This record gives sequence, C-alpha cells and structure tokens, in this order.
Amino acid sequence: MAKIQMTTPLVEMDGDEMTRILWQIIKDELIYPFIDLKSEYYDLGLEYRNETNDQVTFDSAYATQKYGVAVKCATITPNAARMTEYNLKEMWKSPNGTIRAILDGTVFRAPIVVKGIEPCVKNWKKPITIARHAYGDVYKNVEIDVPGAGTAELIFTGEDGQVIKETIHKFDGPGVIQGQHNVDKSIASFARSCFNYALDTKQTLWFATKDTISKKYDHTFKDIFQEIFDAEYKEKFDAAGIEYFYTLIDDAVARVMKSEGGYIWACKNYDGDVMSDMISSAFGSLAMMTSVLVSPDGKYEYEAAHGTVMRHYYKHLAGEETSTNSVATIFAWTGALRKRGELDGNKELMEFADKLEAATIKTIEDGKMTKDLALITTLENPVVLNSENFIKAIRETLEASL
Ligand code: NAP
Ligand code: MG
Repeated sequence: MAKIQMTTPLVEMDGDEMTRILWQIIKDELIYPFIDLKSEYYDLGLEYRNETNDQVTFDSAYATQKYGVAVKCATITPNAARMTEYNLKEMWKSPNGTIRAILDGTVFRAPIVVKGIEPCVKNWKKPITIARHAYGDVYKNVEIDVPGAGTAELIFTGEDGQVIKETIHKFDGPGVIQGQHNVDKSIASFARSCFNYALDTKQTLWFATKDTISKKYDHTFKDIFQEIFDAEYKEKFDAAGIEYFYTLIDDAVARVMKSEGGYIWACKNYDGDVMSDMISSAFGSLAMMTSVLVSPDGKYEYEAAHGTVMRHYYKHLAGEETSTNSVATIFAWTGALRKRGELDGNKELMEFADKLEAATIKTIEDGKMTKDLALITTLENPVVLNSENFIKAIRETLEASL
C-alpha cells in the first residue's frame, strides 16, 4: 500500500520520560508505516530545553503559529528535584504555560469513551468536553489577612485620573480580603476559542457563571459571550445545527449530571479546574483524556492530558516491564493529523486518523488493554499487554481494517 502523502508539515514537539518512549513506538508502529510523515521536529525533552535555554519551546510555539497544527508529547515541568536530577541552569517554566501564552489559547479536554470502561454516571453516553478559561480570577488574586477592626475599600484609579471607590466591608474584628480581576480581551479570546471549537466539532456549547450573585464580574463574562455570539457566530451555529446557551452554574451542574453528554461545557478558570478533574475521574481514567489548545485565530496544539508517567519510566530504566497506556497520546496524533488533513483538504489523512482511532478503541473493546484499564474494565478476562505490545496490537487491528 502506498503511503499517505502530506503537503504541510505538522509541528512535532517531543517530550520526556515514559511518554517519550511511547512517542517513538507510536511513530514506528502506527505512523511511519502508513504516512510519509512531514513534520517539523522540536525536541522539548528537558535536556534539550536546558541546552537551548528554553529557546526550543518558544520556537516550537512560533512554528505552531506559522503552520497551524502541532502534536505535543508530555513534558517535565521542572521543580527543585528536577534541578538536581537534570543539572539544570535554571528552573525552566512549564512548556505548556509558555506555549499557551504565545498562542493565547483555551484548553479543551475530552474523555475517550470506550465500551467496557464505563463512566460512574450511568446516563453519560458521549464525551463531555470541558473548556477552561486559562487567565485570571482567583489564580491572579491579591489577598490580605485582616488583622483587626478597620475598613476595606476597592479603589480603581484611571490613567486619566478618574477614581472609582467602593467599600468592601467595615470590619469590627479580624478577617480576610481577596481582590480578583479579569480583562475583556482575554474573556473575548476565550469566547471565540469556544465558539470556533464548537463549530469544529459540531457540538452544542454551554457556558455558565454565577451572574445572579456577581452582577458585574460574572455578568461581564456572560455579556461578552453573548455579544460575540450574536455578532459573529449565530448564523454559523444555525447552519451547523448546534446551539449556544448560557445558564447559571448550579443549573449547569444539575443538567450535566442528568445529560447523556456530547457537548462542550465552557467554564471560568476555577470552575474549569475543579470540573475537569471531576469529569475525567468520573469517565474512568486520566490516561483516556485528550487535550487540545485552540487559539482564537484557529491554531491547534494536541496532547494527552496526563504527564510523563515518571513512576513507569523509572521502572523501565530499571529494566522492568511497563504497561503504560498510550491511548491519549495516540489520540493527540490522530487529532493533529485529522486537523492537518482538514486544513490541507487531504481526505486520506483525515480518514487515516479516523481508522487509527477506531482501531485503538476496537483493540480495547476486544479485551486487549494496558494494566490501568484492566483494573477498571467491566469486560471479562481482559488481556493485559505491556506498553509496546499494546501499540503493536493496535497496529494489527489497524492493518486488518485497511
Ligand atoms: P502523571 O504523569 O500524570 O502520572 C501520575 C500517575 O497517573 C502515574 O504514576 C500513573 O499511576 C497514572 N498515569 C498517568 N498517565 C498514565 C498512563 N498513560 N498510563 C498509565 N498510568 C498513567 O503525573 P506525574 O507522574 O505526577 O508527573 C510526571 C511529570 O509530568 C512531572 O514532571 C510533571 O511536571 C509532568 N506533567 C506534564 C504534563 C504535560 O506535559 N501536559 C501534565 C502533567 C504533568 P500509577 O503509577 O499508579 O500506575
Ligand atoms: Mg486541578
């Protein structure tokens, strides 16, 4: 069979530890035999980030702006222990943070739904995608430990000298104060990323805040979403047969539990932090969560939601067998290949992505899986495969389907 040709390169961001090992096996078994892969390779492994003073991370993000689609392996975010382990010149920042800041994107996380790995919520039949705003609110707060009686005020001083002042509270004893902010520009980017992603995936978009209580702060989020939707997206949503709707956060939570899934749930920063952990664990496993960063001008970076699986890597280094789940990393590849195909009008590439995803799911549904899934599956007598043999089993299923 002739290999599938590509016209535009995919930005490939290699990473660290166990996921770096999986990355190579995935390419050798599931990509190279079928695709004449055109990629612009960036090594985001910690050693090379250190060698280049992290320039490689910036370059990979600029390449994503240029070409539009990237696939990223999990990477180490250095802490004190990693400084010694890798003999680092500096405690380099999180690559995901750097890339997100350059692309100004929103992260969408969705579980991969497979028969035999059942969500705890029994009526959930389709994935629920969480879109989390990644700027501001409590993550950029200013706090004061109030020592005793006194008055707390909120003061804004404009560059033109205008002063707006509100009393927060007259304390008659100790307490606490918190100041939060957000900016219209970031909220608008968040809204556009959500609307674009909804159109892309043909899923209805929900957005929820607590605007009945927070009449200015949360209400601003609601208004910006609505204004942008009405002005730029309403007709496109109608044509695609999908909806945008806004509701209160408590109503959204209740509806999510009773729904069957199949939509995108946009959340403010804190809500997204909390709800994405709930959704991923309720769907079964972190190893089955995909993640894509979408910029407001339509650039895409696909990855797995989990980290570098350090514990498995150390076992691997010690010569022990590992059974690490590669599904989310495979889906990062298929997501990126499908998007590349879509942007380039390359139908073959899109079809290959569909077939590889279907083969991955079928392999698990046929009872062949890694240890993490075997522990939670409802299928009887699952066959537990090691890291490499699981990918090879997917290749067999894929070849049979081609
Ligand atoms: P992790 O890689 O997400 O793994 C935590 C644990 O979850 C593993 O020890 C394993 O549990 C289980 N697990 C996660 N992914 C799995 C998979 N694919 N297959 C099977 N089991 C899986 O988190 P970590 O080990 O705490 O972090 C390691 C490094 O990842 C850190 O340096 C962190 O900075 C980095 N990180 C990177 C990203 C990213 O690049 N997007 C995200 C998060 C963390 P058992 O050991 O019980 O089997
Ligand atoms: Mg969290």
